[in-house]
Amino acid sequence: MPQQAPAGVAREPRGELNWLHRLFAFFATPGGGLTVLGHIDSEGRRVAVVGSGISGLTAALRLERAGFEVDLIESGDVLGGRMGAAHLGDRPVMLGGKNIGHKYDAFRGFLGALGSYEWQPFGINASMMKEGEVLTLDSTKRNRSINNIRRMGAPRDLAKLLNLVAHIRLEESNKFLGSTYFSKLGSRRDHQPLSAWFGRTLTNTLLRPMTVRMNGAEPDEVYLGNFNTNLALLLDTYDQLTHSIQPALDAMANRVNARLHTKAEGLVISGGRVTGLKLSEKGGPAEEESYDGVVIATPAYATAEIVASELPGLGKRLKDARYFPSSVVVVEYDRPVFTPEVRALAMHDGGPCSNAGSYGMEDRHIVRYTFSGRNGRTGKDGQSLTTAPEQLEEWVGEAEERLTRYLSASRAKRVNSVSRAWDAAYCAYSPFHSEFLTEVRAAVASVPGLELSGDYLWGVSLEACARSGNEAGAKLSHYLTGTSPVRA
Ligand SMILES: Cc1cc2nc3c(=O)[nH]c(=O)nc-3n(C[C@H](O)[C@H](O)[C@H](O)COP(=O)(O)OP(=O)(O)OC[C@H]3O[C@@H](n4cnc5c(N)ncnc54)[C@H](O)[C@@H]3O)c2cc1C
Repeated sequence: MPQQAPAGVAREPRGELNWLHRLFAFFATPGGGLTVLGHIDSEGRRVAVVGSGISGLTAALRLERAGFEVDLIESGDVLGGRMGAAHLGDRPVMLGGKNIGHKYDAFRGFLGALGSYEWQPFGINASMMKEGEVLTLDSTKRNRSINNIRRMGAPRDLAKLLNLVAHIRLEESNKFLGSTYFSKLGSRRDHQPLSAWFGRTLTNTLLRPMTVRMNGAEPDEVYLGNFNTNLALLLDTYDQLTHSIQPALDAMANRVNARLHTKAEGLVISGGRVTGLKLSEKGGPAEEESYDGVVIATPAYATAEIVASELPGLGKRLKDARYFPSSVVVVEYDRPVFTPEVRALAMHDGGPCSNAGSYGMEDRHIVRYTFSGRNGRTGKDGQSLTTAPEQLEEWVGEAEERLTRYLSASRAKRVNSVSRAWDAAYCAYSPFHSEFLTEVRAAVASVPGLELSGDYLWGVSLEACARSGNEAGAKLSHYLTGTSPVRA
């Protein structure tokens, strides 16, 4: 979404002085990089980033590092959004996105810029049920995992899947939404859902655990043109933060002006460019606040509400991105529930629990239960979720019963638990999503001073969200200062 500052509107050219500043900054930066340029032009400029999930945090840090004064606007009472920072007793845990791939360069770059944090390996360990048998995929047991994958579907289906994986391996951009190859595939195939392109066995055994876990959606609710974002996650191996994301959130709160309990209700546009936001603090009336530029880093449906009155066409289109609910309950037991060999189990036996897994490689006495997919939704329309605590209690009881049966383990005693439910936990995109992206990007490019970031632009993974945040921050900085985007 390249944007140019309109002459005499967004930034005042300061003639020769400005030109000399740039030349000096260029040579003063090792390697001739443009990192310090933002600092010169951005001083005293106020920008707002709406949403403090990873899409907003990365955008905010980009802008802060470029020298802007950044307000981080968050309607909730804590930072971090769907990473779901919480506590299980005294222990910090993450109830949402927590597993960080070795290839998560943007996410790791964000953390690295904030401090140094302790990691623990998580690996990939996922087991699926086929005709009562537990088939395990484990990143440390390659041969056995490949054999198990072979047993998960017909050779023809596996060959189709391998072909897609080969494209992702060959070309980095194929890991994310809107890549050339998968956009073309989507334009040919997205008139039918993913489940139409593969046989039932592979769909139930392998594809469903992936879509339900990564999109909260069934295979008949997602599309082939976006499935690269799921497959890409299989090609990585994972770590998690020993002390959760909380220390990084605290570091961010020291770098930007974090405004909790503050809801963005609308954009202010004047002279054809964004000049501010309508903000409501603690449920009070919305008041206008001036900003030189704004990044909206909220899920598509929330972004739609914010832009609706000023940009109705964009607001309407953003509503096409679909979201599905999920609840997560983390329970600590008095003894290990999982074994070192089987640390997570995808359940597709008709119950509401889609996945149960040990919290960490060594934390096999702490189980994270995820309730997602059709059976994990309670709303009448099969979409929304009413998370009565009694309902979750009943679901956990059922899942415990199944787990002990499948793993042939004795039932452990609960010590502690914590839960969270999201009505819109995961983005499942839309059919022909690359067309959606093209239209959204064109609409945003026509409004100087506005950038968007979020899970519907590059993908739902923390890495994809971090990339979209970096991109939005760099573009806004570029527009406001006229310099090249700031490097990570
Ligand atoms: C249960 C679960 C497990 C997951 N596990 C993983 C994983 O292990 N690895 C991985 O890579 N990904 C995982 N994901 C995906 C990943 O966590 C999410 O896609 C990502 O966190 C989304 O970040 P975001 O910043 O785009 O949105 P959010 O985190 O939702 O941030 C948006 C923020 O905007 C705020 N907001 C909304 N509207 C407004 C408004 N009008 N004004 C002000 N603020 C507003 C919200 O309160 C929220 O804090 C998981 C997701 C879930 C739900």
